[in-house]
Order: sequence, then structure tokens, then C-alpha cells
Amino acid sequence: MIVAEQKPLQEIKALISNAQNVLVVGCGTCVTVCFAGGEREAAILAASLRMSTRLDGKPQEIRHETVQRQCEWEYLDQIAELVQQADIVLSLGCGIGVQAIAEHFPQKWVVPGLNTTFLGLPSEQGVWVERCAACGDCILGLTGGICPIARCSKSLLNGPCGGSEDGHCEISPDTPCAWQLIYDRLLSMDKLHLLMEIQPPKNWRTSRDGGPRKIVREDLRLPTKEE
Ligand code: SF4
Ligand code: SF4
Repeated sequence: MIVAEQKPLQEIKALISNAQNVLVVGCGTCVTVCFAGGEREAAILAASLRMSTRLDGKPQEIRHETVQRQCEWEYLDQIAELVQQADIVLSLGCGIGVQAIAEHFPQKWVVPGLNTTFLGLPSEQGVWVERCAACGDCILGLTGGICPIARCSKSLLNGPCGGSEDGHCEISPDTPCAWQLIYDRLLSMDKLHLLMEIQPPKNWRTSRDGGPRKIVREDLRLPTKEE
């Protein structure tokens, strides 16, 4: 899932300071699961902003609403009226949600209430860890299901580097060395021979280096009027 965390209240207040009517929009999917921007967080943030702006002597009208997903037009249509009534929309969705609102309501100023951080999973209660960098050409089949792009600090395709020590990465004793994890897993699965193959340099065009990416599935597209 997409993992995000809320911006500091002061930063959020600065982003909405020029507006009288603010609509806080939560998202019911990834950011709900990581407790950053769901229904509960939208309600709490709206209440905090109401209270804080009142204490500052500059009270603002703060309403809140949560949609199932900010990244789909049909859910955004459900809040069209509320959006029109607001001076500004404070999105608690990920960066995709913020941009979807800006695209769907081009006349409305939209600001982010979250910092979108990574693609990851909860490793334990209250802890999220990065697992994928969306490189567009998955190599997990070579590495025992452990991603060296997202989990090795240098994104090495042939590791480990000389900084690996006692199973930890040189950046921090709290960070496991991804290549040690890969080695241990391949050893336990009797597949160490996979490490004997030197991986050629990765073609990063499938990742961000090739510019903004797009997937087109012709089998799913709706026919145009001429067809
Ligand atoms: S190899 Fe690429 S697609 Fe696969 S998990 Fe790693 S970053 Fe994600
Ligand atoms: S110590 Fe391991 S995880 Fe850290 S940069 Fe080197 S190979 Fe990558």
C-alpha cells in the first residue's frame, strides 16, 4: 500500500491560512490503513484546526468529508457540491489523491495535508517499512522475493557491497542489509546458484528515469463514438 504521514499542524495551517472555508477530504483506502488520512484522521484534524484557528483569533470554517478513494473520478463526484462551497480543499489522500482533486476540480485550490512516503507494509503494530520502489521491471523472481531496489540503500543488483556488517547495512545498525537477507533466503531455499549470475545494469527507463509512466490496456478501454 501507499504509506504516508500527516504534515505538522503548523505547516497545514500555513497552507490554508488565506481561506475562510476549508474542506478537509480524507481517503478511505491506503491512508486509512496507515492511520494518516482516513475518516477518523480527517475528523480529528478538522477539529484541531477549528480549535487552533479560534485560539489564534482567526477562526476558519472547517468541514470534513471522506471518500472511498480520492484517485477515482466517481468518488470525487460525490463531494462535488462540498468542494464548490469551499475556498480551499485540504486533501488527506496521497499525492495521487491531491492531484486527482486538482484535475477533477480545476477551479479549486488544493493543498496536501500528508507527506506521501513510500510503498510498503506494516511490519508490526505502528511500524511501516518500504518494500517496493515501483521500478516497472520486477526482479523479485531472482532475489527470493526480497527487493534490492527498495531495500538496499544503494539499490545494488549484485550485492552485498563492502559496507555490509553482521547482516546490517552501513547506513545504520538498525537497517538490515538487503543482500544479506537475499543471501539467507536463497541459502534456506537451496537456490544460492542464482547469486552466481551477474545481473547486468538495470534499464531504468521502466522506472522514473524514462519520464512519467503510463499503462494502456486496449482490452479494457471503452469504444469511442466513431466505433
Ligand atoms: S524489483 Fe521493482 S517492482 Fe519489484 S519489488 Fe522491487 S522495486 Fe518493486
Ligand atoms: S550494506 Fe547491504 S543494504 Fe547497505 S548498501 Fe550495502 S548491500 Fe545495500
